[in-house]
Amino acid sequence: MTSYAHHGRCHCGNIDYDFVTSKPVTEFAVRQCGCTYCTKQRARYVADPSGELRITYADEDQVGRYRFGQKTADFIFCARCGVAPFVLCETEGQFFGIINTNSLDEADRVPAPEAPHDFDDEDSGDRLARRRKNWIGRVIINSAT
Ligand SMILES: [Zn+2]
Repeated sequence: MTSYAHHGRCHCGNIDYDFVTSKPVTEFAVRQCGCTYCTKQRARYVADPSGELRITYADEDQVGRYRFGQKTADFIFCARCGVAPFVLCETEGQFFGIINTNSLDEADRVPAPEAPHDFDDEDSGDRLARRRKNWIGRVIINSAT
């Protein structure tokens, strides 16, 4: 099976990643979340349960984590340049992730997203189960600091 390593990063490069998946960016199924945070960010997401997310933090002290609502996911942002490249969720000792496609090198080739989804009626159990099924199932974090 072909696999692609799609590179992305925050603006200053403190947060850098590769998203390894079987699809080229032009075939991504792009999702939008209708929550208040994602609406403000104009975030667009992609994941692949059999894919891999390889993250490198140059200075982890400059990596911010924002939680709200049910507080089951961390919106990861660079404290230096403000870009939020992905979201991580830790459950039962395992990390799951989704990529904000705006942070990919090839962001301008990513297809238009589906209409926004509203997940407001999920409880936190439903939410974690959905992420275990749909989000990137293998997350590797390397920190240089
Ligand atoms: Zn940055």
